[in-house]
Amino acid sequence: MDVKTQQKSWKVAVVGAGVVGFSTAVQVAEGLPRCSVTLLADKFSPDTTSDGAAGILLVGQFPDIPLERQRRWFRDSFDHLLAIAQSQDGPEAGVLLTSGCQIFKEPPGDKRPYWWDLVFGFRFLSERELRRFPEYAFGQAFTTIKCECSGYLPWLRNRFTKAGGKVEQRKVSGLEELSPDYDVIVNCSSLGSKELARDDGVYPIRGQVLKADAPWLQHFIRDGDGKTYVYPGSRSVTLGGTRQDGDWRLGPDPADTEGILERCFRLEPSLRRGRLLGEWVGLRPGRRNPRVEREATRLGDGRGAHVVHNYGHGGWGVSLAWGTAADAAGLVRRCLQETHPHAKL
Ligand SMILES: Cc1cc2nc3c(=O)[nH]c(=O)nc-3n(C[C@H](O)[C@H](O)[C@H](O)COP(=O)(O)OP(=O)(O)OC[C@H]3O[C@@H](n4cnc5c(N)ncnc54)[C@H](O)[C@@H]3O)c2cc1C
Repeated sequence: MDVKTQQKSWKVAVVGAGVVGFSTAVQVAEGLPRCSVTLLADKFSPDTTSDGAAGILLVGQFPDIPLERQRRWFRDSFDHLLAIAQSQDGPEAGVLLTSGCQIFKEPPGDKRPYWWDLVFGFRFLSERELRRFPEYAFGQAFTTIKCECSGYLPWLRNRFTKAGGKVEQRKVSGLEELSPDYDVIVNCSSLGSKELARDDGVYPIRGQVLKADAPWLQHFIRDGDGKTYVYPGSRSVTLGGTRQDGDWRLGPDPADTEGILERCFRLEPSLRRGRLLGEWVGLRPGRRNPRVEREATRLGDGRGAHVVHNYGHGGWGVSLAWGTAADAAGLVRRCLQETHPHAKL
């Protein structure tokens, strides 16, 4: 039966139109075809933080989340995007395989990150290869995925509407305002959760990047400190960057631009021959750990809507979105099963 003509029994709202919100909305709409799903957000592509992310799949480790869960988030996201990269949709969705290296001035405590066997061809750089980077003592080479959200978000939106999902542009002032109209509300509002979830643990990590035209570059280079990187993409090369905690400024800072150029030229001297196309600033949703869980109580007096949170992915949201969205969709299912134990979902 066409999902659009199937009878809808429950209403689910997803707040947020970044990579986390759309990934969640797609998985709820496809996995729970008896739910009517509406995605609400005040900003859509191309105006979300996700749009400007370089979108390289690699992650740091969160302190309080079992490593097995973090591996599952990364593996689910990697495998989902790999299937797109290897399909005819890859170019339209902005998802491609990319190879390169991550280099360190001091070898990290764990020489292999926890995801070393989930990407392809992970190995250490040889001394000969490292000679190119005289300031660096250690390096890892691997093939991963680059997911450019300016293509991927419209692709996800299309998949969502095909699954019967609806989209509404609207600023939400509090999750309570949605409670009368929805059975479950999924909060994917990123930094908006400071207000919507009254969460003081979420904070901005300002990131400034430059876009350059240097089509001869084929391989990415990333300093392991996460502050300097050269990521060739489908249309331009992303040069980064900054990681400024607690900084809400959205305008480009000329001093940052200068610093980025100087650091990137050191890693990749041929960039001096490139052409600067633009500057961009985004605010990563910093948090000690991402919050992917149900709110303990329902909104209002306990008979209102269930709330599921999925936000706070920091600098790794593109890398983890599909995996955390699977968990969030599972939590939506559980909320409905508890309220309607005999229903077929
Ligand atoms: C410079 C830079 C480089 C990055 N590079 C990478 C990378 O290489 N790899 C990687 O994995 N990650 C990277 N990231 C991190 C990544 O961009 C984020 O983790 C990710 O975009 C977060 O997605 P999101 O959907 O949670 O948030 P967003 O994309 O910010 O979307 C939030 C959504 O919530 C909506 N919203 C918020 N409040 C409200 C409200 N009150 N009412 C209605 N709607 C609301 C917004 O309008 C928006 O639609 C980078 C980030 C930056 C800044």
